[in-house]
Amino acid sequence: MEKLRLDKIVSATGLYSRREVKALVRQGRILADGRPVRSADEKFDPEETELLLDGERIDYQEYTYLMMNKPAGVLSATEDAKGRTVLSLLPPELQKRNLFPVGRLDKDTEGLLLLTNDGPLAHELLSPRHHVDKVYYARVEGEVDASDCRAFAEGMTLGDGLRCMPAQLRIGDAPDTCYVTLQEGKFHQVKRMLADRGKPVKYLKRLRMGNLTLDSKLSPGAFRFLSSDELKNLK
Ligand code: URA
Repeated sequence: MEKLRLDKIVSATGLYSRREVKALVRQGRILADGRPVRSADEKFDPEETELLLDGERIDYQEYTYLMMNKPAGVLSATEDAKGRTVLSLLPPELQKRNLFPVGRLDKDTEGLLLLTNDGPLAHELLSPRHHVDKVYYARVEGEVDASDCRAFAEGMTLGDGLRCMPAQLRIGDAPDTCYVTLQEGKFHQVKRMLADRGKPVKYLKRLRMGNLTLDSKLSPGAFRFLSSDELKNLK
């Protein structure tokens, strides 16, 4: 692997900004193969050099992976004329990393959004061939019943012509709530399927995508870096 500046390697962990890395270096808290690093712009090959911060290994990540609890009212796009995108919720340091959301949620939908700059991984997760399961929680007008569950399981063809793959519908704690699992992601699909059953969606939240589950500690608009286990299980 090529040599990279120490501040780039350490800031890629998401724990410190480049300016903070300078301070860590001044304080002698970063060791390269056992010796204190002298300057934040010194270059290292992270695969060749053992880098320690306060005695803990620094794991270099080439790409950034964030989990966000998307709030309602912002677009899951990278640009919007009025500036209200999920990216605008990130601090400036992270906005510089060319992140993009993996898949879209409607403006009024909340919940799990993966943000990354790893193009190949995003491509894989979004590829229709991979059938990555997505789980949504919905609140609807009316009540969800067993006939809706059967229709979802059989694979619906909607009044607007959309042919849906078999999907799972589970009634929630209250009869106007449900959990929907889809293997595909057509435009407004959950809303269209439930509307077709005469149960228009009033509230929608994505809870899971493949092996990645929304961290219930994240309030709407909050985000965190994926753990190394979450990242391993994504791939
Ligand atoms: N289905 C929808 O209808 N909307 C979303 O945001 C996601 C899935």
